[in-house]
Amino acid sequence: MKKIAIIGAGFSGMAAAYDLRKAGHEVTIYESADYVGGLASGFKEPNWDWSVEKFYHHWFASDKHMLALIKELGWEDKVLFPRPYTVMYHAGKFYPFDSILKALLFPGLGFGIHKIRFGLVGMYLRLTNNWKALEKYTVDEWLRKWAGDKVYEMMWQPLVIGKFGERYYKQVNMAWMWARLKARTTRLGTFEGGFQNFADRFAEILREQRVEIRLQTPVTRIWREQDTGPVSVECERIERYDKVLITLAPEAMTRLVPSLPGEYLRGLRNLKSMGAVVMTLALKHQLSEDGYYWYNLPKSAGYPFLALVEHTNYVSPQHFGGNHIVYVGDYLEPEHEFFRLSQEQLLERFLPALKKFNPKFERDWVRKTWLFRTAYAQPVPLRQHSQNIPPIQTPVEGVYFASMSQVYPWDRGTNFAAEIGRRAAREMMEKN
Ligand SMILES: Cc1cc2nc3c(=O)[nH]c(=O)nc-3n(C[C@H](O)[C@H](O)[C@H](O)COP(=O)(O)OP(=O)(O)OC[C@H]3O[C@@H](n4cnc5c(N)ncnc54)[C@H](O)[C@@H]3O)c2cc1C
Repeated sequence: MKKIAIIGAGFSGMAAAYDLRKAGHEVTIYESADYVGGLASGFKEPNWDWSVEKFYHHWFASDKHMLALIKELGWEDKVLFPRPYTVMYHAGKFYPFDSILKALLFPGLGFGIHKIRFGLVGMYLRLTNNWKALEKYTVDEWLRKWAGDKVYEMMWQPLVIGKFGERYYKQVNMAWMWARLKARTTRLGTFEGGFQNFADRFAEILREQRVEIRLQTPVTRIWREQDTGPVSVECERIERYDKVLITLAPEAMTRLVPSLPGEYLRGLRNLKSMGAVVMTLALKHQLSEDGYYWYNLPKSAGYPFLALVEHTNYVSPQHFGGNHIVYVGDYLEPEHEFFRLSQEQLLERFLPALKKFNPKFERDWVRKTWLFRTAYAQPVPLRQHSQNIPPIQTPVEGVYFASMSQVYPWDRGTNFAAEIGRRAAREMMEKN
């Protein structure tokens, strides 16, 4: 039996704890927040029976690692898979955009050859498994070549600009786009009560299995005294472990483990990522009267956000005290002014745009707003990214690292957080 510490009670940390404890190890999770669930956590008003995720979340039907974990926990009947509507902006209107077939009917694509090229490229990407061949190219290069400039600029470019901004969008590699299309399904899943309910129940199971979860306990430093000694974890006191798994952002990892050797440290520092700013609004009335859930908005159309997501066109408003829950969000670099502006200032920027979704919208529809920001939201995979992934086992004996930046070629997500957490647990157990 080993004594193991896990830093972070997000889905990767909890999934790792589950397997390590099942194998008989003594496990302690350190979590800086006063709740579990990390980036997938949610919040709730007293009269709501479901929580709302701080950052819009759903699963794809292809999220096999998460669905397998839920099955192991015996909660398959708590997973719901509605089929909400996703739409894309074109020339002042919105059109269905959640499958290749729907996209083929998108008027922005024009006629004839463009539709054929779009369909063929989409089909090829859905069918091929050879993502390694794609990571040599950027999305911009590959799609311009195979889909053509017009199709790329109309259908794909807005998506990559939205996700990665002007700085990175031309550098993101094509395997990222492949993974997005491969994983995507039209049915989108959630957990009864919201993701926070799932996280809380998972934490409860872990506690029953005698995993200790220490909330409000930020870890400040991790080091190994001698080559053969235990690993020290510093929070309000110093404690010693045989092994430690860290599930934080690469940048936090560099600060937490200052003794990491140069090359590993450089690797971590070279990883790029985008932050996210998401405002949630509780409205008196439904915003999208067409019942649309997800609006994709190209930056060029002048909206002050990248996506508008009407959560209650996916999950019934009755779970939220009759409120209509709308998210407006964007992926931005942490230097962006949206990371500095106050909630009121941001609301002033966002409100005028809501009329474009429903001309009847008035300011007094807004009952309450919440604002969440994170500097680490979306890893940016550059060309040949598979060569830049830091190994889970770090050069510091007994110290392991599992984060969103290592699930490549897949895009980040709770499914892959569970997968990498469990993979890290296996690696920790394989090594004596
Ligand atoms: C805008 C947005 C939308 C998303 N949409 C989806 C979606 O639709 N579907 C989906 O599946 N996924 C989605 N994701 C991704 C998903 O949230 C993440 O992939 C997943 O939650 C990552 O889990 P994790 O355990 O790796 O990390 P995290 O959830 O980040 O967990 C790390 C934990 O460590 C804690 N911590 C930090 N520093 C310390 C410290 N010093 N000491 C102790 N604890 C510390 C943090 O509080 C946190 O709880 C989205 C993410 C964002 C940002």
